Amino acid sequence: MSKTREGERPNLPMQGVLQPTREEVLALPRVYISSHPVMQHKMTALRDKNTPPPAFYRLVKEIGALLAYEATSTLRLENEVIETPLQTMTGRRLAGGIGITPILRAGLGLAEGFREVISEAQVWHLGLRRDERTLQAMVYYNRLPHDVDLQVAYAVDPMLATGGSAIDAINVLKKRGIPRLSYVCILAAPYGLLKLSQAHPDIDIYIATLDESLNDLGYILPGLGDAGDRQFGTF
Ligand code: URA
Repeated sequence: MSKTREGERPNLPMQGVLQPTREEVLALPRVYISSHPVMQHKMTALRDKNTPPPAFYRLVKEIGALLAYEATSTLRLENEVIETPLQTMTGRRLAGGIGITPILRAGLGLAEGFREVISEAQVWHLGLRRDERTLQAMVYYNRLPHDVDLQVAYAVDPMLATGGSAIDAINVLKKRGIPRLSYVCILAAPYGLLKLSQAHPDIDIYIATLDESLNDLGYILPGLGDAGDRQFGTF
């Protein structure tokens, strides 16, 4: 990144940075963009600046549940013999544990939506703070368990903007040796999506909507504003 004066970084971290177009990232491998009409309907309400925080949070949860439904469609199953009130049968159940890692704090609503679909999932909170000037991500809170015995973990964060915290979150999860990782977000900018896909080509990325670009400050356009502030009313 260019510097304004010696040792000083610019306040507009994306100013002058070349960004890929939507078309250039649409065919990336292992990227799944929702085409569900209910998702698009909810996205319009979510983006609307007049949607107040309680309704915004509820929509994030609902979108989280829809994304969870899509992101869990390839999970492994195993047989389980059960008794129905009428007879014995072999049912199917999810094989192995599932982890959800909300990236604090904006990922909390999305994680709640996931839990409504997979209530047995463990929730591991991960705090990553973005330096507003440099956009570099730093870990400030990590509640990943010491022993993980899981089939998959989902890192969830509503906004995939520059990709910095997404890449860092997946790095943290990879160090725990979880065999299968996915990243789930509501809005992605082509720039962050390309960065994440290049840094971690071995993960699946689930997105509700792919937006156009980032502004000079690193906000997604047309976007929805600050996903944390809008969920928790901290304007
Ligand atoms: N984080 C947000 O909350 N919004 C953006 O547009 C980008 C990053």
